[in-house]
Amino acid sequence: MKEIRVSKFGGSSLADAGQFAKVREILLSNPSRRYVIPSAPGKRTANDEKITDMLYECHRLAQAGEDFSALFERIADRYRSIADSLSLDVPLEELFRTVRAGIEKSERPDYAASRGEYLNGILLSAYLGWDFIDAADGILFDADGKLDQNATQDALSALLREHEYAVVPGFYGSMPDGTVHTFSRGGSDISGAIVARAAHADLYENWTDVNGCLMADPRIVRDPKPIRHVTYRELRELSYMGASVLHEEAIFPVRMAGIPTNIRNTNAPEEPGTLISHDAEDMDNDYVITGIAGSKDFAIVTVEKAMMNAELGFGRRVLQAVEENGISFEHLPTGIDTMCVVCHERALEGKRDKLVHRIYELTDPDSVEIHSGLALIATVGRGMVRSKGTSARLFNALQRAGINVRMIDQGSSELNIIVGVDNLDFENAVRAIYRAFVTEFDRERA
Ligand code: ASP
Repeated sequence: MKEIRVSKFGGSSLADAGQFAKVREILLSNPSRRYVIPSAPGKRTANDEKITDMLYECHRLAQAGEDFSALFERIADRYRSIADSLSLDVPLEELFRTVRAGIEKSERPDYAASRGEYLNGILLSAYLGWDFIDAADGILFDADGKLDQNATQDALSALLREHEYAVVPGFYGSMPDGTVHTFSRGGSDISGAIVARAAHADLYENWTDVNGCLMADPRIVRDPKPIRHVTYRELRELSYMGASVLHEEAIFPVRMAGIPTNIRNTNAPEEPGTLISHDAEDMDNDYVITGIAGSKDFAIVTVEKAMMNAELGFGRRVLQAVEENGISFEHLPTGIDTMCVVCHERALEGKRDKLVHRIYELTDPDSVEIHSGLALIATVGRGMVRSKGTSARLFNALQRAGINVRMIDQGSSELNIIVGVDNLDFENAVRAIYRAFVTEFDRERA
């Protein structure tokens, strides 16, 4: 069977005619790229506006009974300029009239928001000479607005079979009553993953404006290296800790179907990007770790009681107090006589005293303390289990940087080591870890 690729392009990849030209070149350079999922035009420069934001604003003005003509004209001009520059023969003015009228009469913002992708899809299909499939016919939500996976898989697979090459706009689908419904913001990633699954694709390409995922946050580490290979599990750990790559829900459909995802850069198509796949066996990385991610503002509740290890049901009672207060926890590092519950600070807001009180009632501990201002840093890597001295290297690096480690949690998945440090030490700690595992590692190898 011939290879099939599904390619999703983000908003900056399709922000103007010049970007459209790059996208076409990419698509036509490999005939296995058969289905393309466009986002709405994004920002052309840092201060530019995103079409989707403007459409939400049109809807808001329309609902408030205000005139949104001027704003709508600015949106229309963006599409006109793409169509004119590329000499596309598309009945844009007629489409604008329909969209405008639709925005005026819909109560929910979904219709308005979705038109960014819809119109971009029509332009792209004209430019490529490919068929246009309206996502409303293939991506189906239930009455509660949740994706109906089975119905979608059936409808979309059948539709795709009818078109060898097609454009399917991202971000939206339809409700059982036929009205348009959108995913949450950034949802074209999800549409692309769903199309990849329905097309039984060999590869889901997610084209954006960066060279893939980076080993650390570039706002903290200067020029971090790109990650060449990452497993879906590692990616989950990294994005849970704050690395933003793909929309979280975009992982599920392709991961389930065993389809690898390749993050690529529309502005540097010669770069291989990041390949996300199921198993790590056939993938190797240059480094022991895959990436570092973290975030601030966690709190740690420490419950101490001598001989706690021998007390049946102690842990359950601590967690009962947590649950009764409606607090969801993130990590649970325990020692012999201590048990720690790590949660987001905001989860504890207004509940601290009640929680401490309830823990005392239920467990009769020696002490209960809550420390705030904790930052968690996850060092993630499937290679860590196999390589000796990983934790030594990590803690050594932190010690050399003069950073006090307040919590350690070596995830049971053996994919990561999580350390808790003061919020104030966060950036320095990330840099120290990066230096130890990447910069110094490179130097040692040279
Ligand atoms: N255009 C939508 C947004 O801005 C969806 C997307 O780009 O993925 O959120």
